Amino acid sequence: MLKSTPALALARRAWRQLHADAGLSLNLSERALLRARADQDAPAQAWALLAQGFHRLYFAAPAQAEQVLGQAAQAFAAQQERAGEVLALAGCARALWRQGRVQQAQALLMPLRDEGLQLLRNEQRGVLLNAIAGCYSAQGQSEQAFAYMYQALRDAGPKRGQGFDTALHCNLSHELIELGDFHEALRQVERGLERMVGVAHGRMHTVLLVNRVIALTELGRASEALPDIQAIGAAANDPSGRGLVPMHFEALALGALRAGNSALAQALMARVDPAQQLPDDRVELALGRALAAKLAGDPAHGLRELGAVAGQLDAEGDERPSLRMRCNHAALEAELQEALGDAPAALRALHWAQGLQAERARLASAARYQAAMLQTELLALQQRLEDQESKRLAAERARTLLAEANERLSRKMAEVEALQAQLRAQATQDVLTGLANRRQLNDSLPALLAMALREGSPLAVVVIDLDHFKRVNDEHGHPVGDQILAGLGQLLRAHLRRSDQAFRYGGEEFCLLMPGTSAADAQLKVQQLLAAWKQQVFALDDGGQLVGLSFSAGVTDSTLTAPSPSALLRGADQLLLLAKRAQRGSVLVPGAATFAGEGLQDPVQPAFAREPAGS
Ligand code: GH3
Ligand code: MG
Ligand code: MG
Repeated sequence: MLKSTPALALARRAWRQLHADAGLSLNLSERALLRARADQDAPAQAWALLAQGFHRLYFAAPAQAEQVLGQAAQAFAAQQERAGEVLALAGCARALWRQGRVQQAQALLMPLRDEGLQLLRNEQRGVLLNAIAGCYSAQGQSEQAFAYMYQALRDAGPKRGQGFDTALHCNLSHELIELGDFHEALRQVERGLERMVGVAHGRMHTVLLVNRVIALTELGRASEALPDIQAIGAAANDPSGRGLVPMHFEALALGALRAGNSALAQALMARVDPAQQLPDDRVELALGRALAAKLAGDPAHGLRELGAVAGQLDAEGDERPSLRMRCNHAALEAELQEALGDAPAALRALHWAQGLQAERARLASAARYQAAMLQTELLALQQRLEDQESKRLAAERARTLLAEANERLSRKMAEVEALQAQLRAQATQDVLTGLANRRQLNDSLPALLAMALREGSPLAVVVIDLDHFKRVNDEHGHPVGDQILAGLGQLLRAHLRRSDQAFRYGGEEFCLLMPGTSAADAQLKVQQLLAAWKQQVFALDDGGQLVGLSFSAGVTDSTLTAPSPSALLRGADQLLLLAKRAQRGSVLVPGAATFAGEGLQDPVQPAFAREPAGS
């Protein structure tokens, strides 16, 4: 694959637009050519020449097309880009047979066939096949022509709006006309016109109309063809319309004559350019003049016109007119002889025409068989394409559903995760005080103890119990009790070091773990906390306040008991018990509890008092 450049991109677009929008294609190829020359971009130049050459095949004289396509072929050859070269040569071949040099075209094309079919894909392959078909068609070898045309149609694919398929329907209708299958020819014209929707190609449109005129005329319905004849006659002879090439005025004139419009026919015949006539055109013009003479009441003159080209009918090779022209020549001769009253001569001509007609019928039936086969294949292809499309749509739907399901799932998972985090927090947190709970203590204590032992530093453990808390509940209600518990939680969180941890141990009991702290240091710290606690003021609903609340605490550390979590907790608990017994509102450490003893009564009245409202 070539690396794309700006000029190459333009040239490729020109090539792609060739059949879809002829004007745009020409514009693009001209710009591509300028750019390619400025950039010395040889590949782009080759493609631009190719697009321009093919454009000329449609809209200019074939000799002009041949010249540009020859340059394109050379440019491709210089870069050893064989696919492009084959396309350019296929174009050259078309230019040759459009000039009546059929043998030469055939000789150029046939050696390219196998290689081209290997190298080219889709529409490009179609271009080669179509050129080969044209060669066979020009030689009257309809069967081969059909085979290649249908193959080209298949390779161009059932996709619409590219324009190339229109060209193929156009060629098929031409070939069917040659064989005398005018109804099928009309159908191909209609299909071509249908597929021209979205295609801007004046020349292709005009050729389709010409084919319709011929088919209708041959079917004896020439008057139906008059609007087409007028339209073609009026089309601009430049690339915006039918192009510069003569537009089969001979055939149009015959249609006008059969429709009874002699004046129009004369005007059309006057536009014929003898320099651009092919053998068929020459015979057809003679047919027109002969028919005009007959309609003017001079069949003898008509016969002379026919006689003038009779010698050309038996020519060989490129000069040989088509079977259809020879047939029409004989049929018109019979018509003129009959008008002259020479029945035997009319019968002879009719016999001759019949023989040619039989030959056409034989070719037509072979072609029809061929067509039916390929048509079936084409339908199957179309079906496959539609199947693929519906599969693609189904897959897309499934993908969307899956994406939605995934989205729902991940939303759900996020919810579940949040919920789990909440549960985890709930499992280890006490909601009322905002402190960690006992379960967390069971996790933290062994870990902190292990670390303390490893580091050889003390871990202080404190157990705190609110004094006479039952009484608070009893006197002020449970909600006030809750408020106080929360208050202590807040106090502990606010005053402890970051490395310290506070837990709600039980109902109104708390536990502190203080790494790197001895029992004595912890005692000091807890005494400060107690002092702060005593200062704490709780507002009551009735406007009064509670102050002077106290707690008792037992403090130990890992150097003073057996180094186990339970021993530490038990030690602190026992000291707390001693404190309760000896003196509520005290903080005891081991060894300091000299006054503590079993059965000791609390000598002190409740340390907290209800103060009068407003104080
Ligand atoms: P002591 O000084 O001996 O510790 O006396 P006390 O009243 O504090 O001790 P006791 O064990 O007799 O009573 C503890 C009270 O704490 C009983 C219980 O109703 C209360 N309590 C425990 N948990 C909560 C709680 O979550 N909220 C409230 N408001 N009270 C609680
Ligand atoms: Mg208690
Ligand atoms: Mg208590």
